[in-house]
Amino acid sequence: MTAGRVYLVGAGPGDPGLLTVRALELIRSADVILHDKLIPWEALRDARADAELIDVGKIGGGAQVPQDVTNALLVEKAQEGKDVVRLKGGDPFVFGRGGEEAQVLRAAGIPFEVVPGVTSGIAGPAYAGIPVTQRHVSAAVAFVTGHEDPSKPDTMLDWAALAAFPGTLALYMGVKALPRIASALIEHGRPADEPAAVVQRGTLPDQRTVTAPLGELPDVAKAAGIKAPAIIVVGGVAELHDEIAWFEDRPLAGRSVVVTRAKAQASALADRFRSLGAQVIEAPAIGISPLAVDLPDLSTFDLLCLTSPNAVDRLFELVRDARDLAGLRVAVIGPGTAAALRAHGVEPDVVPERFVGEGLLEALEGVEVRRALIARARDAPDVLPDGLRERGVEVEVLTTYEAVAEPLSEAVRDAALAADYVTFASGTAARYFLDAVGGAAPSGQIVSIGPTTSGVLREGGVEPDVEATVHTPDGLVDALLADAAR
Ligand code: SAH
Repeated sequence: MTAGRVYLVGAGPGDPGLLTVRALELIRSADVILHDKLIPWEALRDARADAELIDVGKIGGGAQVPQDVTNALLVEKAQEGKDVVRLKGGDPFVFGRGGEEAQVLRAAGIPFEVVPGVTSGIAGPAYAGIPVTQRHVSAAVAFVTGHEDPSKPDTMLDWAALAAFPGTLALYMGVKALPRIASALIEHGRPADEPAAVVQRGTLPDQRTVTAPLGELPDVAKAAGIKAPAIIVVGGVAELHDEIAWFEDRPLAGRSVVVTRAKAQASALADRFRSLGAQVIEAPAIGISPLAVDLPDLSTFDLLCLTSPNAVDRLFELVRDARDLAGLRVAVIGPGTAAALRAHGVEPDVVPERFVGEGLLEALEGVEVRRALIARARDAPDVLPDGLRERGVEVEVLTTYEAVAEPLSEAVRDAALAADYVTFASGTAARYFLDAVGGAAPSGQIVSIGPTTSGVLREGGVEPDVEATVHTPDGLVDALLADAAR
């Protein structure tokens, strides 16, 4: 059997956006992935469903898997003919033992490739507004392991040389050792008043940075409760944090936000919150299940009403020939549904100003309609069909899909109940979420997209703290931002 290939891949420091294109490509195709603890968990989301994922970062939450066990696994899996991705935090060759693994693979005659990653010693400071080099401030940077105890005689590090190093020091793994590192550097001549910083969980949504003169940094970091993983930066560049910090300044930095929409729709809203700095918890207690229906002859209708993006997508699964829609006036409930329709190449004729059933009825006032088809979810409110019938319109309701309950894992449920904000973009999402948490009350602020959703929440015994004035996902985001700024 020909041996598989091993890829020593860097996964970056934590922000999944900092995975390289090559890393993602290899994750998607790997037979086996051996990964560390310090990798973005999202990195594994794209692995094949049948890929074997092995956590070699820890054993059952406890000790690290010994390096020789990892080495043996790499060789063994490759010899079984499998393509193996060895996924490591940051860069595989920067304090990642990737070099040792390459040596083992070469000795065993197994072909390998190395995919560099974004290293935390550069990225953490960068996300804290600290460039590791800067003209007129620092013309060199040294990456140093802070793992070694500077008081031990057998240290590999020459502290005198490091103290004298003419540039920035980026120290990895040094939180516990910070007091000893700071004193060793100062003892060997580094000025105690030199700017320094610690960046905890760099590039992750809950990143924190503290800055202080080197001599005071251990106390300041301790008072702030700084923990691993963290990068220590020593050098004039650390001062630039005050001037050009950006990541921690975003409006929702340090806040957690729950998105309760169905998976298919959640990502746009989740991305909005993420880009505003929030830590997003996706809690899709609701899924979309298509229903088998026969589409009636569309040429017998003069109005088609669509009240959700899902209804639009489902309709286009059912329409065999787009020209069947040619003679129809199409009304949608709001901008989201309009966008979904445009994505299928159809321009809506009617978009109301208020994005609720009543608003659509108002918008249709004065429009001459004989027969209307409403394609929608099971259990959608009857405001629209009832209102049209009252006007003498012949209405056919076509139920094309239904919402189904999706169980939430215990971890997601706990995280959602403890989050700073829980957002509800529809009454259905609200109902299913409340069911999934089994009556437990979220401790954070409850944000509702509008009156219908708020009504469902109140029925479930939950009083919304914030209700959007514009009943769209954008309106929901704006309402949450306004609350966060208070
Ligand atoms: N190969 C990795 C480093 C592995 S050593 C890289 O290139 O980044 C582990 C140390 O890296 C941690 O103790 C910590 O000092 C640092 N580290 C890793 N991820 C980090 C993060 N997101 N923020 C701050 N430091 C991090």
